Amino acid sequence: MRFPLKLTANLTRYIAGKRIRGEKKFPLVMMLEPLHACNLTCTGCGRIREYKSTIDEMLSVEQCLQAMEECGAPVVSICGGEPMIYPEISRLVREILARGRHIYLCTNGMFIRKKLHEFRPSSSFFWNVHLDGMERTHDLCVERDGVFREAIEGIRAAKAAGFYVCSNTTIYKETDLSEIAELYAFLHELGVDGYMLSPAYSYAAVMTRDIFMSREEVREKFRQALSLIEGYNLMISPIYREYLKGERELMCTAWGNPTYNPRGWKGPCYLMTDAHHDTFQGFMQDTPWEKYGRGRDPRCQDCMVHVGFEPSAVLGAHRKLGDNWKLLSWQLSGKMGGAGRRAGTGNGNGHGASRGNGHGNGHGNGHASEGQAGGLPVASPPPAELLGPDGRLRIL
Ligand code: SF4
Repeated sequence: MRFPLKLTANLTRYIAGKRIRGEKKFPLVMMLEPLHACNLTCTGCGRIREYKSTIDEMLSVEQCLQAMEECGAPVVSICGGEPMIYPEISRLVREILARGRHIYLCTNGMFIRKKLHEFRPSSSFFWNVHLDGMERTHDLCVERDGVFREAIEGIRAAKAAGFYVCSNTTIYKETDLSEIAELYAFLHELGVDGYMLSPAYSYAAVMTRDIFMSREEVREKFRQALSLIEGYNLMISPIYREYLKGERELMCTAWGNPTYNPRGWKGPCYLMTDAHHDTFQGFMQDTPWEKYGRGRDPRCQDCMVHVGFEPSAVLGAHRKLGDNWKLLSWQLSGKMGGAGRRAGTGNGNGHGASRGNGHGNGHGNGHASEGQAGGLPVASPPPAELLGPDGRLRIL
């Protein structure tokens, strides 16, 4: 299987329910940004630039959960900023898992080892580690030496403890594709379970424009890239891959991956900000969706990013006969776990033991802490080096 069976089953049930009720626009993955502060200043990151004036603001766990319930998406991608410096990150994860959602915790990997003891493995939880190349390249992209090594040590520790881990790579104009193949081979040996990748997009907030690609450049780059890495457990759908290679068209379905952050629901999409909405309903109803996408808004012209077009494979208007079968066989054909040895269980799946150790009850009864609090320590404060003299998160 390419994903845990429970994730595939829950998503399938959710989509079928929406279709039966005749809903046309609905979310698949909620992008939750509890804060925008980060310990790094990556070259391609729009968040630390766009939200500079509010970078020390944070959502409470209760605000996050309320937004999650309002949205209803079965998958929550916790991102930021760096979510591992959110003081209550482990409680947030516990509470979301206890409500039956699936989580990708997107991180630069710098604090996995330090905070791993606050988390428990679950088939509904993935560490999603950002890596844009091998050591020298990645450290250049994130503008700090040592980040690659620490992220790799974090991945090793997480795999040894029985967690699912995937990686997340952005492809820029200058990306050396043979190095991405080298990176994937390296991660495969570490037992990484899956791989996400997306073309970079020229955020209005990012000043360094010469690293981004036109649509034709994206297509050429991905034709080459995908031929090198096709054999790995890619977590991007075959339909989105066809789009990236220029073999089919898709229209953006930005509502499929809505973003919530301390300013509200970010419209129209993860990348562009024309408005922040107080409620999810307001975001869905008041965003003029017909005005966005290629040929409608010049800012969308070269956009082919994952958050805009991956949901189109399921939700979009350009679906073709056979797409459902293609998606199903893709999900069944993958294989998690890389080449690494699984920790802990000796039964070959690496997660058998962990399912009963702190998440089983939580999933079943729908209450946050009843099944888990006993096994989990109280959240630790953010790392001391990130706190200013006033005890607040340091502003970059
Ligand atoms: S195409 Fe969609 S995802 Fe891309 S910038 Fe436009 S609205 Fe956002």
